[in-house]
Amino acid sequence: METEEKALNFIEQIVEKDLQEGKNSGRIQTRFPPEPNGYLHIGHVKAICMDFGIADRYNGVCNLRFDDTNPVKEDTEYVDSIQQDIAWLGFRWGNVYYASDYFEKLYDLAIDFIKHGMAYVDEQTPEQIAEQKGTPTEPGVASPYRDRPIDENLRLFQAMQNGEIEEGKMVLRAKIDMANPNMHFRDPIMYRIITSHPHHRTGHRWNVYPMYDFAHGQSDYFEGVTHSICTLEFVVHRPLYDYFIDRMIDFGYQRNPNDKEDRTHQFEFNRLNITYTVMSKRKMLQLVKEGLVAGWDDPRMPTVCGLRRRGYTPGAIRSFINTIGYTKVEGMIDYTWLENAIREDQKEKAPRVCAIFDPVKLVLTNYDGEGENLVAENIDGHPELGTREMRFAKELYIERGDFQEESDKNFFRLSPGGREVRLKNAYIIQATGCDKDAAGNITTVYATYDPDSKSGTEGGNRKTKATINWVECQTCMDVEARLYDRLFAVENPSAEEGDFRDLLNPDSLRIVTIKAEAALRKEMHRPEVINGIAQVNHYQFLKQGYFVVDPDTTGDKLIMNRTASLKDNWQK
Ligand code: ATP
Ligand code: MG
Repeated sequence: METEEKALNFIEQIVEKDLQEGKNSGRIQTRFPPEPNGYLHIGHVKAICMDFGIADRYNGVCNLRFDDTNPVKEDTEYVDSIQQDIAWLGFRWGNVYYASDYFEKLYDLAIDFIKHGMAYVDEQTPEQIAEQKGTPTEPGVASPYRDRPIDENLRLFQAMQNGEIEEGKMVLRAKIDMANPNMHFRDPIMYRIITSHPHHRTGHRWNVYPMYDFAHGQSDYFEGVTHSICTLEFVVHRPLYDYFIDRMIDFGYQRNPNDKEDRTHQFEFNRLNITYTVMSKRKMLQLVKEGLVAGWDDPRMPTVCGLRRRGYTPGAIRSFINTIGYTKVEGMIDYTWLENAIREDQKEKAPRVCAIFDPVKLVLTNYDGEGENLVAENIDGHPELGTREMRFAKELYIERGDFQEESDKNFFRLSPGGREVRLKNAYIIQATGCDKDAAGNITTVYATYDPDSKSGTEGGNRKTKATINWVECQTCMDVEARLYDRLFAVENPSAEEGDFRDLLNPDSLRIVTIKAEAALRKEMHRPEVINGIAQVNHYQFLKQGYFVVDPDTTGDKLIMNRTASLKDNWQK
């Protein structure tokens, strides 16, 4: 898909203007700031493509920063998976930073705020604080602790950090403006106590942890970020982001003494939301913990590892993000866009193989040979993409639906006395009859073949109305096919009333055993794992869809996941 010629997105336009104006001495620095409290999802990829994309395009640097200010939910498992996924997507970060690297500095900065009379320790309950916030049209009510003397604030904040105060009993608040129309200015919480959970990196060193608003912008500033790009829900936080940084500068934290204008600004774009799924780590964690999916990498999950296991490639995912673009309005992207991206990506890459999903035996009554090896192109019309052998013999499996006992002028496939049909990459046949069991189910189909009609020979040029798939009975192999579909049954599970878990699509996974041609036998082994990523191959099952080898495959059992059907079945 076109990447280069595409018009600049609105953030690229801002960056170009900043460069023209010589802001930040011409430096471009971004960051991707995930909280390590879950696996990355496709929404994060939108942010990743923006953050790393800007740095790549303008010779800047994009750092990876773990926003690890809440030890209750964070874990190194997530830190590792996040790095793995970003690398797999093909992006390279400059440095890896952690907000926890700055705990010392942030604590000192908080003390500066107290010393300047700009912060106070509040002993009210979270409920009381919330009640006093007011509404956007009504001013809030000042806390009775708001005018506590500076000394007392210093002593209490120290006591909070010393572990002398119980979790939830005190917070440090910025003293700004309880009547400000922006609710985020109504004495926002800067620090809270968390003693119940050790931090994944700093252990028990800290009993107080900074809130997002008092950590994010500060981390950006410490690191030298120039463009701090995030999603639209942070628009309302932006004035506070600027306020805290302005105060830091007032207190003398000038990060680049040679360039007084060198600072960070926040820019926001629309979040990615996709139909039939949820885009929240909290909800995904619930699905995983409750066993409603098989794990973070369940192929139905919108996580990067789930999409990977489903058969999505970095190229397809990046092209999808490129297609949807960046705007300043929230919206919902149809799931089919994602599927179209993988179809487009695999169209000219995935080798084709035959697999029969609902087999019925076909006997070619006039075929007397031992069988033969035919040669088929992996992708029709592209001999340069390789060929494979297809075993052909007297007994084959075909799709049950490709035979009909009664001939019918609108049915172009096999029926006795009906038309000629081509077996894909092989011969032309004509049905002669069938056997049925006592229940009336067809057990065997009979046909004759034309020995002079072999594909690739002169006789092979003869046209038929239909071509059908087949595999040879002796050499074909069983494959476990996991047929994945939408995770949710409704378009926007987050917008519905009630429990989102009740909206799961009961048919999101169907497991069937299919008969595939022998060419797939080379996939019968445990896939190699490099840097934590299973190295697996992609295929197209003719007429069925795009499939990928599942990492659970062993020498005894080949498992293939359906990435996407060939065409969209969900259009209304
Ligand atoms: P979640 O709500 O799923 O927990 P989050 O926003 O809390 O997501 P973070 O780890 O804080 O997750 O996000 C890291 C970065 O990814 C942030 O800059 C955030 O704006 C961005 N991001 C998260 N979700 C989306 C999304 N759906 N679309 C675009 N960007 C996203
Ligand atoms: Mg977050």
